[in-house]
Amino acid sequence: MAKVEYEIPETREFPVIPSVMEGAMAHSKPFIAGEEFQTDMGFPSAEKPGMLVDGWKEKFLDLMKDKLGKYRSLQVFMDTCVKCGACTDKCHYFIGTGDPKNMPVARQDLLRKVYRRYFTFAGKYFPWLVGAVDLTKEVIDDMYSYYHQCSECRRCAVFCPFGIDTAEVTMAARDMLAMIGMGQKYSNQIIPKVHKIGNNLGLPEPALVDTLEGLEEEIEEDTGVKVRVPLDEKGAEILLVTPSADFFAEPHIDGLIGYAKVFHATGVTWTLSSKASEAANFGLFIGSYEQMREISLRIRDAAKELGVRRLVFGECGHAWRVAYNHLNTLAGPWDFLDQNYPIPQHILEFTKDALDRNLLTIDKSENDHMTLTFHDSCNIARASRIGDTVGSQFTTPRQVIKAVCNNFHDMAADTIHDATFCCGGGGGLLTDDLMELRIKGAQPRMESLKNVVADHGVTHMAAICAICKSQFTKVLPYYGMTMDQIVSVHQLVSSAIILEGQGEEAADSDEAEEAA
Ligand code: SF4
Ligand code: SF4
Repeated sequence: MAKVEYEIPETREFPVIPSVMEGAMAHSKPFIAGEEFQTDMGFPSAEKPGMLVDGWKEKFLDLMKDKLGKYRSLQVFMDTCVKCGACTDKCHYFIGTGDPKNMPVARQDLLRKVYRRYFTFAGKYFPWLVGAVDLTKEVIDDMYSYYHQCSECRRCAVFCPFGIDTAEVTMAARDMLAMIGMGQKYSNQIIPKVHKIGNNLGLPEPALVDTLEGLEEEIEEDTGVKVRVPLDEKGAEILLVTPSADFFAEPHIDGLIGYAKVFHATGVTWTLSSKASEAANFGLFIGSYEQMREISLRIRDAAKELGVRRLVFGECGHAWRVAYNHLNTLAGPWDFLDQNYPIPQHILEFTKDALDRNLLTIDKSENDHMTLTFHDSCNIARASRIGDTVGSQFTTPRQVIKAVCNNFHDMAADTIHDATFCCGGGGGLLTDDLMELRIKGAQPRMESLKNVVADHGVTHMAAICAICKSQFTKVLPYYGMTMDQIVSVHQLVSSAIILEGQGEEAADSDEAEEAA
């Protein structure tokens, strides 16, 4: 755990709205993309990071005009806010930092003030009356800072009586900032790796082959059963697209082992793809539908080349948000896949169905050393669905956890389901240059976790998002917990599942020993 120079927020028995601390996080901003990272993305670059391209003001306003015309929702969000205040204390970044510009309404206002100045009658002629401001470099710098203190989690939208979605405002702002030379280094560095190599990590095919072979050996050593983790296998029934963190990081990799065991036990054929070895779609984070589309098209190409009939996504929150909402419009039609199954399908839907049909042999006692709780990831809770009934994105993961674990206790009702708190690292903020923000933004989730640990003996929190898992691994120690207290849901499935033939080798050798 790295030493930090700022205070770690306290966790209390009951949530407390923080005192307002003007400018508390004004210094927080991610590294700005330099020329190479802007150029790699096809974005314009200024002379130096932090400077703007020539004609930036006209360009920004042109882009804004274009977006207001294209996205009706953005126009409605700019016009609708009545300053009722319902959203002010709902953002984890405000709760964790006390900075009033982290109130969702204030975050929206950074763009709204400019919108009023240039796109409304009152703002053009009486700007002082309607809080309209000129677009200046200072306003742009403020936007860069505070639109990178929003994880696009949509919690504020749940509480806004008009459903104003700050996430969408943030996405629009980030896209316009990138187009005047203020792209974010972290995302701009990662996206080209997906296009060139196939995944966010830049893990080339030979390394992927090695990793998957290693996993097969590990499963066989553990269970005595040969479970395949296939790559680029033409004619397989299912293409699994999963976050690349599943190939190397803990606890993600244990989740991947879980998917492999479930596929093995149900007898379907499946494959990963070296071309689409990444479910993550950072196009969402930078607000670029063009990038979202390009990244999605790799999956379509891979599915066609491999001749699969079904498409399943692994545990990744924002990847599922993009897939669930946009895969059909951005990369469809998927008429070459089997229409009898959801397109795309979430791995939890697959596993839940297998459990319901008694296709899996489960020994829940394998997880008896743990008492679980579940963290609803924002992108699944508030921006997509798992299952096909209202609210089944909340029930499905809990049903699967309870089917493989004896001990489960939910966190406080106002911190789960659609009121869940973001992990603090979502929306393109999972970078070390934003560590202070990530730690402080995790405070509300850490608070509800610590309470359920103290009151109900919870030992572990399960999650179904790669970013949540990485973020919690990093921030749990700052709140007095350990990094291994975060687990994958399919890690729990993996521990409980008993494969056909599992343990037979060990039993045979015991018998042979006895006979001798
Ligand atoms: S979308 Fe989430 S992070 Fe962004 S302002 Fe709303 S609550 Fe805060
Ligand atoms: S809850 Fe909605 S209408 Fe009320 S201040 Fe927030 S954004 Fe504006």
